[in-house]
Amino acid sequence: MIRGSKQREAILRVLGSGTSHPTAKWIYTEVRKEIPNVSLGTVYRNLRSLKERGEILELYLGGTFSRFDGNSTDHYHFRCERCGRVFDVDEPVNKEIDVRVAQKTGFKVLSHHLEFRGICADCQKGNMNA
Ligand SMILES: [Zn+2]
Ligand SMILES: [Zn+2]
Repeated sequence: MIRGSKQREAILRVLGSGTSHPTAKWIYTEVRKEIPNVSLGTVYRNLRSLKERGEILELYLGGTFSRFDGNSTDHYHFRCERCGRVFDVDEPVNKEIDVRVAQKTGFKVLSHHLEFRGICADCQKGNMNA
């Protein structure tokens, strides 16, 4: 797995540099600043393998594009309805819901996704460019 590690490192750096939960396209644009000849396909391939190895998360949010998260531990998100940014929510994941749903349905619950929606602090201040 030596080949392609330079791209992988660049992707992880891009993902770790903010809390923006970027799309693959945005990651590609950023990685290209470091590695000009990288292709979108290579970025997708690396994102997939990083996801399989549990180093990053692919988020299933109510948007057109999947977004990626450099924080691979289970956590909740808040989406701003005005600027579309996705934030991490510092709130422990509620495992009780899994147990309750499992008891009610008889299903084996592995995880759940919870997305908070509203207006972020910047947008409440009327600062659209933040
Ligand atoms: Zn906002
Ligand atoms: Zn996150």
